[in-house]
Amino acid sequence: MKKDKLLKIAEEIANCKQCKKDKFGLHVPGEGKSDAKIIFLGEAPGYQESQTGRPFVGRAGKFLTKMLDKIWIKREEVFITSPVKYFPGRRAPSLDEIRHGMIHTKKQIEVIKPKIIVLLGNVAIKALLDEKLRVSDIHGKIIEKDGVKYFPTFHPSAAMRFTGMRTKMEVDFKKLKSLLI
Ligand code: URA
Repeated sequence: MKKDKLLKIAEEIANCKQCKKDKFGLHVPGEGKSDAKIIFLGEAPGYQESQTGRPFVGRAGKFLTKMLDKIWIKREEVFITSPVKYFPGRRAPSLDEIRHGMIHTKKQIEVIKPKIIVLLGNVAIKALLDEKLRVSDIHGKIIEKDGVKYFPTFHPSAAMRFTGMRTKMEVDFKKLKSLLI
């Protein structure tokens, strides 16, 4: 069953020395429905996430949950995770850390087989599409690659700080909702 497969991947992450290297707290494998139509992919867990083992529970997470509420999507209906599975501290994760985390993340995607993967910000875009693409250029557009549909938009921690980005993210989320109907 999909649920058991996801649990097995979460266990692999919990025991992964490479994932843990130079990082802090609990592993944050991600959470949500095992047969979700959408996966939301962030950047890396923050301090709050490292204390609870749950993704997007801090300020950015509350903002993301509110954005989902606005388009009538419940957190429990989707799957939320990040390319990097442990809190790297107050620094950006390195390309090697992102690439390594994606080994686990790709397995999760393979099990869930979502209709669409929402890429929240440049780290997720870097991890799944192209290292040179920028969110400001490609947000709100479906990008198909190897038969998978990606939908890039802003990272909630950026959108909650900058009004311009927030407005664009709200427009993107409305479009996302219309794509799912
Ligand atoms: N930001 C992320 O990108 N991921 C989390 O899990 C939390 C905050």
